[in-house]
Amino acid sequence: MRIQVFQKLIFRFLGTVYFKKGWKYPILVADMNEYNIQTLNKGRTRWTCRNYKKSKCNSIVYTYGKTVKILRHHNHAPTIERLDDPELISQKVNIIREEGRVVKRVNVDFLIEKLD
Ligand SMILES: [Zn+2]
Repeated sequence: MRIQVFQKLIFRFLGTVYFKKGWKYPILVADMNEYNIQTLNKGRTRWTCRNYKKSKCNSIVYTYGKTVKILRHHNHAPTIERLDDPELISQKVNIIREEGRVVKRVNVDFLIEKLD
């Protein structure tokens, strides 16, 4: 059996995200990608990548107060080409980015216990 050891990296920095008008709800632009509102509850909004259906992209964003939390990489090219579009309204926010990466691959003969 082959197992992978993951490391979770958390980056915090001041950055800029953009909002633009959508058909019904605003669209969030972060990292040159567009996100649609998925759920809104208790002051925290969950956004899914625009390519969620098209390429099953898993990248999601949570926004709450002045914080934008970006989770998971995109599996496609950016959906936005330029940020000088007058429709985009910029906002300075605290960005938290969480990424997982494989640091090691190990071959094991058996597993005694599965660790969470
Ligand atoms: Zn995506």
